[in-house]
Amino acid sequence: MSGKVGFVSLGCPKALVDSERILTQLRSEGYSIAPNYDQADVVVVNTCGFITPAVEESLNAIGEALEENGKVIVTGCLGERPEEIIKRHPSVLAVTGQADIAGVMEHVHKLLPPDDNPFTSLTPVKLTPRHYSYLKIAEGCNHKCSFCIIPQLRGLQVSRDAGDVLYEAYRLIAGGSKEIMVIAQDSSAYGVDIRHRESEFQDKQIKAHLIPLVTELADMGAWIRLHYVYPYPHIHKLIPLMAQSKLLPYLDVPLQHASPRVLKAMRRPGGAESHLKTIQQWREICPELAIRSTFIVGFPGETEEDFGLLLDFLKEAKLDRVGAFSYSEVPGAAANMLAGQAPEEIKQERHERLMAVQQSISLAKNQAKIGCEIEVIIDDYGELPGEVIGRSKADAPEIDGKVYGTGDGTVKIGDIIRLRVNSADAYDLEGKIVGQVPWRPSVLSLA
Ligand code: SF4
Repeated sequence: MSGKVGFVSLGCPKALVDSERILTQLRSEGYSIAPNYDQADVVVVNTCGFITPAVEESLNAIGEALEENGKVIVTGCLGERPEEIIKRHPSVLAVTGQADIAGVMEHVHKLLPPDDNPFTSLTPVKLTPRHYSYLKIAEGCNHKCSFCIIPQLRGLQVSRDAGDVLYEAYRLIAGGSKEIMVIAQDSSAYGVDIRHRESEFQDKQIKAHLIPLVTELADMGAWIRLHYVYPYPHIHKLIPLMAQSKLLPYLDVPLQHASPRVLKAMRRPGGAESHLKTIQQWREICPELAIRSTFIVGFPGETEEDFGLLLDFLKEAKLDRVGAFSYSEVPGAAANMLAGQAPEEIKQERHERLMAVQQSISLAKNQAKIGCEIEVIIDDYGELPGEVIGRSKADAPEIDGKVYGTGDGTVKIGDIIRLRVNSADAYDLEGKIVGQVPWRPSVLSLA
């Protein structure tokens, strides 16, 4: 045995995919994964460095690993700013940047040389349940949003070849994944950096472009969910696939604001008028489309008028899922230099007002589902006999609502069921299980 490595994974789904890759590499070289600090010969902490609270959480996690184990290698987004880590925790063994799998392995090798003849496992490590997986199609970002330092941390966009992505999706579905979440910093810009070059998938040449990629994914028969999609004109072509039930009728579109003035200061395009026009066009093609978005309130220079425009937009757009964040400075972001930084009370007050507006919209939308039959993928068992907890097609894991179902106790985690909705609040639905949905992927199942 090559040694035991402890692992702490923090951050967004993109960081989770990096963790899976590092763990897979460790296992393929014969290392085992320690279940706790005591049994680990070394601990790897994969950090997040996006916003101030995430930096704090990462620094605290490093501190805990040092206290509990003592030998710590740091990687991930915050690893791109090693001085911040060393300043707080000078005793870490090494710091590597995001997605630097080779760098992590190099430092692990120094401390725990690999066996010449290891007992290896080539099975990819997944940190999500077997029935759903994240599929990262590109790293980095070419945009320059003034509040964000992701392009500094993760670099410019580097897309994977379509064939590479599709073979990974095929393996995931063959291994039991029923739902695939497509992620990137900007999924809609996929392939731009490699000039949409073609690559082979099952004797076909597929372009590295979101439309052909997703069209192929849709043919595999799993639930395909798209995240971090910007409302560019080519996204219209995806909506008919949703109307035909080939893709989940779900789009995660981070709009961040609706006032053109604030969006300009954020260095992002559009405004309420163009957002509304696009949403209306999408809904005409696919009325059941669930749109999720995130917004920042209290951005520097945001006036009461700008904020009012955002509330009016939300009332008119009637988005299905909304996340809101109070603006907070990110060290190194251009927006830190902008005039008109809002006091905390104003940010807090606007955050509450926005959430109150959205809650009544979400409640009405959820209550309109009472009496309907919906499909639900099961993530967990509930506390009551026969109770299960899952998600509808309109709910992504971790960020959206849940569906509580009651049945005869035969439903298992990973099943897809039909449920009649009995009650609803602003976030969750509850109902009775009325049947199973057969699982018939078009890939050869190895599960
Ligand atoms: S699109 Fe903007 S917010 Fe998103 S990662 Fe790129 S720069 Fe950051």
